Amino acid sequence: MQEIQNRLIHIFGQDNIRYDEPMMKHTTFRIGGPAAVYVTPQTKEQLAEAIYLLQQSKVPYEVIGNGSNLLVADQGFAGVIFDMSQYFTGYKILHDHCNTAVDKSNRVYVSVQAGMMLGRLGKELAGYSLAGFEFATGIPGTIGGAVMMNAGAYGGEMKDVLVNATVMDKTGEIKVLSNEELELGYRTSIIAKEGLIVLEAVLALEPGNQTEIQEKIADFAGRRREKQPLEYPSAGSTFKRPEGYFAGKLISDAGLKGFTVGGAQVSEKHAGFVINIGGATAADVIALTDQVCDKIYELNGVTLELEVRKLGF
Ligand SMILES: Cc1cc2nc3c(=O)[nH]c(=O)nc-3n(C[C@H](O)[C@H](O)[C@H](O)COP(=O)(O)OP(=O)(O)OC[C@H]3O[C@@H](n4cnc5c(N)ncnc54)[C@H](O)[C@@H]3O)c2cc1C
Repeated sequence: MQEIQNRLIHIFGQDNIRYDEPMMKHTTFRIGGPAAVYVTPQTKEQLAEAIYLLQQSKVPYEVIGNGSNLLVADQGFAGVIFDMSQYFTGYKILHDHCNTAVDKSNRVYVSVQAGMMLGRLGKELAGYSLAGFEFATGIPGTIGGAVMMNAGAYGGEMKDVLVNATVMDKTGEIKVLSNEELELGYRTSIIAKEGLIVLEAVLALEPGNQTEIQEKIADFAGRRREKQPLEYPSAGSTFKRPEGYFAGKLISDAGLKGFTVGGAQVSEKHAGFVINIGGATAADVIALTDQVCDKIYELNGVTLELEVRKLGF
């Protein structure tokens, strides 16, 4: 590993590499042991060189955004974490061949780097009176994580606004995948299946009324504050929505609100959220979610599936 570390220092520079970095600092759950190596890449060229090196050396690696949908194991991750949220944070309004950002269907194209936070982007787009992204503004993740998860809320999802994504494959090759090629489904995409890294995404938005856009964003934010336990660390909705049901309602009806294992608890405010009430370990979350799953299956014959992505298990 020492040889790999030296090569990574050569690629990224010492200032962009940390060792035994506690992942609880990089997840909204505030859970997770140390990553052996933690890197903040600055360019796609650096990333391509490192991916090639790690693939050759069979050293595992994972890419993260804001860590808002992650449960990292207590023992951490014995490989390299690439955190895209530090440097890949730019965006630009694109111009087509007529030197206008608006095409015939009145859509405006915006190219966004993978590490940009959805909330910041939403505010910027509202500043340009661009509509269509309001649904995502309260999701505390990055564009890369949102493409990967096909994140969605309040009737919208990334699939509705995504034109294409520029990705890097396991050989370090860069290609552009269209909306269809990304195979965006309910909280899924081809990104995880093929171990791709999202570098950039192009979104299509529409000119709108700035006041209406801002009101919509404020309305969604208000609904989140009212319904979600935002005062506690969590990774958002813990389970995917089972077909024909709502996970939160099933869990609430089963009397599991407030059910606690160690520092992990089914939120009293929203049973679809597992929260960290203090010092929760990944083992607490797993023990709790396993028991919730068993109970829901026993009572309803419904299998709950984790929406939260596990890392290091
Ligand atoms: C309070 C709260 C509310 C939430 N509300 C919603 C909601 O309404 N709707 C919703 O869909 N989600 C919601 N989430 C979950 C989460 O915010 C989204 O899934 C978000 O898209 C994850 O983005 P991230 O950057 O934090 O990804 P991370 O958590 O860092 O990573 C998630 C997954 O994406 C992968 N990934 C991240 N970046 C890249 C990249 N550049 N290339 C390839 N893979 C990458 C990671 O490897 C991991 O598998 C909520 C979470 C919280 C804490």
